[in-house]
Amino acid sequence: IKVEELVNESFDRISSVDGEVKSFLTLNEEQAHLQAKALDEKPWDESRGLLAGMPIGVKDNIVTKGLRTTCASKILENFDPIYNATVVNKLAQAEAITIGKLNMDEFAMGSSNENSAFGGTRNPWNTDYVPGGSSGGSAASVAAGEVLFSLGSDTGGSIRQPASFCGVVGLKPTYGRVSRFGLVAFASSLDQIGPITRNVEDNALLLEAISGLDASDSTSANVEVPSFIKALTGDVKGLRIAVPKEYLGEGVGEAARASVMAALKLLESLGATWEEVTLPHSKYALATYYLLASSEASANLARFDGIRYGHRSDNAENLVDLYKQSRSEGFGDEVKRRIMLGTYALSSGYYDAYYKKAQQARTLIKEDFEKVFENYDVIIGPTTPTPAFKVGEKSSDPLTMYANDILTIPVNLAGVPAISVPCGFHEGLPLGLQIIGKHFDESTIYRVAHAYE
Ligand code: GLN
Repeated sequence: IKVEELVNESFDRISSVDGEVKSFLTLNEEQAHLQAKALDEKPWDESRGLLAGMPIGVKDNIVTKGLRTTCASKILENFDPIYNATVVNKLAQAEAITIGKLNMDEFAMGSSNENSAFGGTRNPWNTDYVPGGSSGGSAASVAAGEVLFSLGSDTGGSIRQPASFCGVVGLKPTYGRVSRFGLVAFASSLDQIGPITRNVEDNALLLEAISGLDASDSTSANVEVPSFIKALTGDVKGLRIAVPKEYLGEGVGEAARASVMAALKLLESLGATWEEVTLPHSKYALATYYLLASSEASANLARFDGIRYGHRSDNAENLVDLYKQSRSEGFGDEVKRRIMLGTYALSSGYYDAYYKKAQQARTLIKEDFEKVFENYDVIIGPTTPTPAFKVGEKSSDPLTMYANDILTIPVNLAGVPAISVPCGFHEGLPLGLQIIGKHFDESTIYRVAHAYE
């Protein structure tokens, strides 16, 4: 098969379904065809890249040189970056073909894609439902067959939750595994870029292509990148699984609980064992996350001032007014809510009560995981309490929306890696199984996910 044909197939599929699904914000048609042509002219030998010719979509908070990058925000509506994110350079090295930029919640804040300034993505399984967020376009584009692979970003669940809602495989790598250089920062101590794919094998391949130390990101880790594909042995004999009781307790729906129990049974039949454990501080995770993530966001988003890039108001009379007007016109409601919350939490007089307390709680949450991992290889639970919800169902109540992330957020606070793999359906909508691993032990996660898949 020719790369040109693969690329054509991608764009054909986009023309036929994207009017409804709305995964894409910008297409890279001309460049993609040029790249395909060049690849078809090259000999098909060992010199080819790890992902040669594979059509991929990139979340629109990852900067792409000369290709519009909006973060699904009006404030960056016409922003053409002058450099590539490290992961985008790595994709180019691997000879993957960027098909376009994917819809998301504005600045990655949200769980449903309804916060996109350009209209939300819909769930390909049933377009009355949300695809999840904030990497909703990344998950929906893979589920709808528009691309083979995509990149998302996960600060509190934004890869795993939409992967779960759309029935695809999504992994949040260990913090530091993948360079954040060129990822528009939301909460820098939590953000990670990761792969979304149709199956575990593809996921392992894509993670390998984007991982590694990067001099441009001081938080990227100097840890060897193994061949994740080699971990896919199918063997889970003797594997010790921990199941936190908090992950099957109050607020978790019967369908999610039942699907996890079925998955555990299957893994048991393959020779793994499981026991119930506790992550006692996970009840503080949601509050901790929304304080820390909003605090970091309020600082990170200060750069959008109407001067350096993005939307500039026409109505301002002086400089301070220009900042105010540009930001008021450019940011959506949820982004403003986070900036206000974060600015408040960081203000002098409140810092000790909120930000510092939240940092202390974060340490306790991280220690919960460390304790469990002294005796177990992986932690398993549902990715989300329920399958996808209806468009509009939670959008008027931020707190109900935030509660949807309760099972994914502790992982970001601890910095550990976790995957969501499809594990059945409930009333026609996919459910996800979450497998959490030790720091830099994505290999074990993939081994378990592959054996289960
Ligand atoms: N839904 C969470 C939030 O709104 C997580 C977002 C993310 O992981 N980027 O902050």
